[in-house]
Amino acid sequence: MHAVEYQSVSKAYRGAYAIDQVTLAVEEGSFTVVCGPPKSGKSTLFRLLVGLEQVDAGRIFLGGRDITHAPPSERNVGYVPQSFALYPHLNVYDNIAYPLHLSGAPREEIARKVDATAGMLSITHLMKKTPDQLSGGEKQRVAVARGLVRDAKVFVLDDPLVGLDYKLRERLMDDLKQLCAELRTTFFYATSDSLEALTLAQSLAVLDAGRLVEHAPAVDLYLEPQQARSLEIVGFPRANRIDCVARDGRIDFAGFSFGLPAGVSTSELLLGLRPEHVLVGAADGREGRVTIVEHLGSEIVLYAELAGVSLTAAYPASGQRAPEIDSAVSIGIRAEAVMIFDKNSGRFLGRCQPLA
Ligand code: ADP
Ligand code: MG
Repeated sequence: MHAVEYQSVSKAYRGAYAIDQVTLAVEEGSFTVVCGPPKSGKSTLFRLLVGLEQVDAGRIFLGGRDITHAPPSERNVGYVPQSFALYPHLNVYDNIAYPLHLSGAPREEIARKVDATAGMLSITHLMKKTPDQLSGGEKQRVAVARGLVRDAKVFVLDDPLVGLDYKLRERLMDDLKQLCAELRTTFFYATSDSLEALTLAQSLAVLDAGRLVEHAPAVDLYLEPQQARSLEIVGFPRANRIDCVARDGRIDFAGFSFGLPAGVSTSELLLGLRPEHVLVGAADGREGRVTIVEHLGSEIVLYAELAGVSLTAAYPASGQRAPEIDSAVSIGIRAEAVMIFDKNSGRFLGRCQPLA
């Protein structure tokens, strides 16, 4: 049984699909992240699950039960909406307790749960404050606590870290991961930030223009995306994508020549190459010219141009200085690092082969 299951769900606003025939099953107890660019339909997907929107077609199951048309009160989901609002006249304690009051829980039980949840999110010291006395990060933690306070089967968090500074985001991400492990509850989480997605996700679903592109264990999806759009959406810096036409079983780009894997006859290709696989200073590389350099502290991101192709490289700085702009660099690429996709369908076909 799955914690959540969408079966061919569609939802349109004024004739435009926000969710387009999405079929997605979320494993019980998993931390599943939906990653997609802004407006790809993440919030709509969640609002359909919690009952704030009605599907146009398809069915939704929660813990095996068909809740497609059930009222929100009959869906046992803890929800942190993307745009949350705390009740300004209630203090932090009562804001967090609110969903429990609604469900008519006894006073002692409410106190116990609010204390436990506040403790997990390190906001116990804020209990008597009102929202206007809180910083942005504190408000966000309170909103997350309010979503997590229920004994829900599934916690749905819609982009809860957006707008927080880096340190706070890191801390909240750690807390959420730990909570998922401790509570053994399903976390269903949306973000447009692929670093955040990779940090949190066990299971990663890529959404693009209302369609589910791919759903796989996060590591698999990163290392071997089955769709070109997954490669583009998940990963930072963004993966290199190179249009290419194969001729006589050969792939030529930027001065490199590789072989097509056996069995691939498609000639219109899209090549995908992660920046960490563009090797700067390689002994047997091709000469390129540096166009942009970003020194990010532990990592150097470098853009180089080779025979009319622009490539992004990323590598550990490890105490070295980055090459100067306009200088010549030797760029190496291993054949197997180059992923081959069908340009028309976006489907993964295999990896380049070294030529004999
Ligand atoms: P995301 O959360 O990925 O940014 P949304 O689900 O918010 O995506 O939006 C998906 C698409 O649906 C967008 O084009 C958005 O403009 C549209 N949309 C979402 N909610 C509504 C609504 N209530 N009325 C009209 N259009 C909407
Ligand atoms: Mg959204």
